[in-house]
Amino acid sequence: MKVKISEKPAKTILTRSGIDEVDYCLNPYTGCFHGCIYCYATFMKRFSGHMEPWGTFVDVKINAHEILEKQLSRISTGSVMISSVTDPYQPAESRYRITRKCLEVLADSELEVSVLTKSPLVLRDIDLFSRFGSMKVGVTVTTDDDRIRRIFEPNAPPVSARIRALRELREKGIYTYAFIGPVLPMEPESLARKLGPFIDAFIIDRMNYISKSKRAYQKHGFQRWMDPGHSMSIVKRLEEALEQYGSAG
Ligand code: SF4
Repeated sequence: MKVKISEKPAKTILTRSGIDEVDYCLNPYTGCFHGCIYCYATFMKRFSGHMEPWGTFVDVKINAHEILEKQLSRISTGSVMISSVTDPYQPAESRYRITRKCLEVLADSELEVSVLTKSPLVLRDIDLFSRFGSMKVGVTVTTDDDRIRRIFEPNAPPVSARIRALRELREKGIYTYAFIGPVLPMEPESLARKLGPFIDAFIIDRMNYISKSKRAYQKHGFQRWMDPGHSMSIVKRLEEALEQYGSAG
């Protein structure tokens, strides 16, 4: 898919968060190459003046680290999540290194930082993560089956690459967590076997994303997964299976 990349200076980079236990969010990009069909962040189009389909544009906040330095002269405590409405390690990050530059600034602060991505590019910054007192790195894994991943997350990295990233992070002593949301069609015990050994904790997002991707569920014969009772039983099985590995939910 063709993605239009534009460099756009940001006016602010740390924004107040509405997420539990997160004070600020830091989004180095507007838009996301991964183009997940259930993406909850498409509302960002309204704020950024984009009319194109989600997944076909990425605005690079080219001055993010400079703005961050200025904001940190006023903010000295709290927690920061990178990112909430984009993937900080989407392909543009290989070239622009905006996330890395922001992490370099944050490493000299007292803020508690966590990172959430679907991409193994996160491994590039292991050296930086080790400089933080309490860095938590999360990788989103929504299914154990790459055929399902291709339907719902067409441009995101394969499931196996994400799990390898978690393994390598953990082997390097970084605190890792799996963000499992949305819970896509899966075999929960299989996902737990693959993830369990490589995570300190997991978060299962129970938010209902189905309205956004209803057509895909119907087209691929996943109607059963649209039933809340079925989803809840999968979540329960997943929690029980993951807890056997000692990771905290
Ligand atoms: S990776 Fe996250 S922000 Fe990017 S399209 Fe997928 S759900 Fe949306």
